[in-house]
Amino acid sequence: MNLRVDLGDRGYDILTEPGGLSRAGSAVLQRLGAVPTACIADERVAALHWPCLRDALHRAGVAAHLLKFPPGERSKTLGTARRLLSELAALRLPRDGVVVSLGGGVAGDLAGFVAAVYQRGIGFVQIPTSLLAQVDASVGGKTGVNLPEGKNLVGAFHQPRLVVCDPLVLRTCGTRDIRCGLAEALKHGFILSEAYLFVVEQRLRASLARDPAAMAEVVRGSCAIKADIVRRDEREQGLRAILNLGHTFAHAVEKVAGYRGYRHGEAVAVGMVGACHLAERMGLCSATVRERLVTDLGVAGLPVAAPGLPVDQLVEAMGHDKKILGGHLRFVLPRKVGRVEIVDDVARRDLVEALKLLTEGPGGRPGPRRR
Ligand code: NAD
Repeated sequence: MNLRVDLGDRGYDILTEPGGLSRAGSAVLQRLGAVPTACIADERVAALHWPCLRDALHRAGVAAHLLKFPPGERSKTLGTARRLLSELAALRLPRDGVVVSLGGGVAGDLAGFVAAVYQRGIGFVQIPTSLLAQVDASVGGKTGVNLPEGKNLVGAFHQPRLVVCDPLVLRTCGTRDIRCGLAEALKHGFILSEAYLFVVEQRLRASLARDPAAMAEVVRGSCAIKADIVRRDEREQGLRAILNLGHTFAHAVEKVAGYRGYRHGEAVAVGMVGACHLAERMGLCSATVRERLVTDLGVAGLPVAAPGLPVDQLVEAMGHDKKILGGHLRFVLPRKVGRVEIVDDVARRDLVEALKLLTEGPGGRPGPRRR
């Protein structure tokens, strides 16, 4: 099924169909021509899914090279981007060449950033292989890498020319990865639509069981929400910021845990609970929002607290967050299920109290062996 991100001459299709990976070559050929491509994937995803993509591209007459990097958030750095850029130069990928990202949100952000700056910007195709990347990261053109000072501090808006979501590739994902994607899908419901939240809630267990139909529905629902917001506010001048529900907390949690303890989706789950605590303290919403969120996250097997993380370090990490405007930390806070508000004037003591509730409560991250 096709969904269009309507951005005029920079608009693009999101294809969501089982078996889409094996048809990606003709989809690229149809939209971009027989352009030389460099595919960027982490080593795990490359071992699992590159042969299928390589054959699909070759069948369509699209020349393709593979560039790899070690899996995980810790690869999302300028150092990795620098190495990949040198490899593109060594391949002599021309200006009309295309970078294809095959993988989770890390591959998408990294490859998108490389595509945005190589020869001042070349074409880019997203083939997301994690649920998180299919429901969220692959759509909207945000690309970038982390700095030691904070997450996503270097980056560019660079829209893909095509997104191919194949629910069948999600069968090889670990359970922990599926959970992370469900966190972002629940986020879309809590931000914008109780009706969609209900759809996700009904499909949590089937998605965890890797039912392609259930996951495809969640992917289409989330992509439709994200495509509409991106169409209305591509560069996050206002409305798009609501997609950051939980993210000021989440980025701080990820950073303080050294990009090791929490996957991004797990940190978003914790961050949304933090946003609820803060909103409750500020009298913006009732406890029922948090209670429903905590129930949903529990069904999905996601953490709802960050026990043991030092509050002062979290506050300090938030100080480096991009969402600072004029010296004020910016938070997206819930008002009720399906409605959020952007709030700039948060008192430090309210934030500290919310963080105490978040770090002292039970329900922290899963153990390191859980996948
Ligand atoms: P990830 O890319 O690290 O993938 C998680 C793990 O799943 C990796 O080990 C990867 O090898 C593995 N994996 C991916 N697909 C697989 C498959 N089909 N089978 C087996 N293993 C597979 O992380 P993620 O959770 O996908 O994405 C998180 C990143 O996305 C963060 O860096 C976050 O900042 C970014 N993000 C970006 C946006 C955006 O709009 N650009 C939005 C949300 C998140």
